[in-house]
Amino acid sequence: MGKVIAIANQKGGVGKTTTSINLAASLADKKVLVIDADPQANASSGLGVDPRTVSVSIYECLIGGNSLREAIVGSCVSGLDIVCSRIDLVGAELELLNVENRERVLSRLLVKREYDYVLIDCSPSLGLITVNSLTAADSVIIPVQAEYFALEGISKLLNTIKIIKSKLNPALEIEGFLLTMYDARLRLANQIYEELKKHFRDMVFTTVIQRNIRLSEAPSHGIPAILYDPDSRGSINHMQLAKELIERES
Ligand code: ADP
Ligand code: MG
Repeated sequence: MGKVIAIANQKGGVGKTTTSINLAASLADKKVLVIDADPQANASSGLGVDPRTVSVSIYECLIGGNSLREAIVGSCVSGLDIVCSRIDLVGAELELLNVENRERVLSRLLVKREYDYVLIDCSPSLGLITVNSLTAADSVIIPVQAEYFALEGISKLLNTIKIIKSKLNPALEIEGFLLTMYDARLRLANQIYEELKKHFRDMVFTTVIQRNIRLSEAPSHGIPAILYDPDSRGSINHMQLAKELIERES
């Protein structure tokens, strides 16, 4: 049975999409599906798929009654498929309001799991689509940027997770907090890691994702860093993350 992991933090620019793309690529000796649940569609383009060329996106699945299977396309990585997003997903927030059981639409679509891992790249919001993602997920990875105010907003996210656990998805777990854009030379970065450990203990991934230019360059080539520069620090960090994720389960 596959595991569904939402990558969520309502803060923008913390590394959700970078984590989704590169963790997925690092896991792709298994069967992996990435669901792009952000209207910005960065995960789609970062995996080499132009959302404009795709006839069924996550939007049509959530609103138009299409199945997820109809939306699945291959990516530039073998073993890794994707359900694309498009900018019109913005409208789905409102359109979903009229749908019965509106928090469970994605969860119902996901019933047949043909993948070892399904990673959902969430948008920077705690709106209905993110609620759908968290309701469909077995666990959530929370990327935290090693920056000032990193922990700001985390309590709001944790509160949302708590509500979803009590009302919609009791089995939802926090897979882990992941420190991203880490620069070991900065005392601040180390302080934030210590602070995360103090609050969340073994829920913090041992692996940290270092700041690495290759991770920010790769998307413009439409490939994950693992393909763009496999020996880069960013690639190595994500492969380590994949290993840690798998080891946690065994
Ligand atoms: P989010 O999906 O949370 O908005 P992104 O993954 O898109 O965040 O990252 C925001 C920006 O920071 C992007 O331009 C991305 O390329 C860059 N970035 C993310 N992680 C790293 C990293 N570890 N090192 C360098 N740049 C990074
Ligand atoms: Mg993103």
